[in-house]
Amino acid sequence: MQPMTPKQRFLAAMNGEAVDRPPAASIVSVINYELMDLTGAHFPAANTEPEAMATLAAGAHDIMGFDSVMPIFSIAQEATALGCKVDWSDKDMMPNPTDSPWADRDVEIKLPDGFPDSFLNDKYVSCAIEAIRLLKKHFGDKVMILGKVMGPWTLSYHCYNTQEFLYDTIMDPDRVRKSLETLAPVPVLFAKAQLEAGVDAIVWADHATGDLVRNTTYRDFLLNWHKELIPQVPAPVILHCCGKTLDRVEYFCQAGFAGYHFESANAAETMVEKTAGRMKLAGNVNNPKTLFARGPVEARAEAQRAIDAGVQIIAPECAVPLQTPVRNLVEIVQTCKDNAKN
Ligand SMILES: [Zn+2]
Repeated sequence: MQPMTPKQRFLAAMNGEAVDRPPAASIVSVINYELMDLTGAHFPAANTEPEAMATLAAGAHDIMGFDSVMPIFSIAQEATALGCKVDWSDKDMMPNPTDSPWADRDVEIKLPDGFPDSFLNDKYVSCAIEAIRLLKKHFGDKVMILGKVMGPWTLSYHCYNTQEFLYDTIMDPDRVRKSLETLAPVPVLFAKAQLEAGVDAIVWADHATGDLVRNTTYRDFLLNWHKELIPQVPAPVILHCCGKTLDRVEYFCQAGFAGYHFESANAAETMVEKTAGRMKLAGNVNNPKTLFARGPVEARAEAQRAIDAGVQIIAPECAVPLQTPVRNLVEIVQTCKDNAKN
């Protein structure tokens, strides 16, 4: 088979078409301290300045050989624009929201005044958009450029406080519904801005994971929002939801996602079986036990296991720990290359 470009390969895998080899992808984040040194783009600038963000993201392809790049590394890029406090100054850690505007029950649940303009003009939101423009200029149509948004469930963790929000799914479900309804337009707005800047698909993180909520909670609170919102994004949308999810992937299929990025806590074979013909899969190489703590031999074995199970896009299961060695990530790419069809 003729060699494909990384973007052709990724899109063919998403569309269920023949590929010259399985794509190796950065879905949520493959960046790490070693890659920061190799590219010269470090935190905190790589989360707050477009040039540094694009330079570090490009390293996923230019240095490690992945078929896709993802410039939005953290889960916090849109949080400040929604009124959360985020510490953007740490050079050693991913930024994380620390203060939730709706945690106080007396506070009315609403978007900040000036939305949507204030959102799109926010320093960290516009940083991501500008970084995407730079990546598009750098890669053109050769490499798959992915964007990322947080869905209304994960944004609720940020705006409402995770514990309070989960507690209220039982104690005050109407306030939970109000939060989801209020935040629902945000990921669609951010996704459209990223698409206009040059991304080819959107990763949609909504952490209604088996570690935190029941599958019926997903079905009763979030499924209808996903059904309504995903078709509003004019591109393939890949759901990211960590943890154990085999008991709710049927609902993810119904929601209308084109793909699902899943963790190694779920057997790849079972996930492939449950999603066959409905969603494409990306993942599911283990981060803490394998990519972070072990070596290339173990990374290769897991990548090969995912390929053999029928996972279409091979990737780390979630954002890799920042201490992850480059050689383990490169081994995922090499394993995919070694599976090339003649
Ligand atoms: Zn995750």
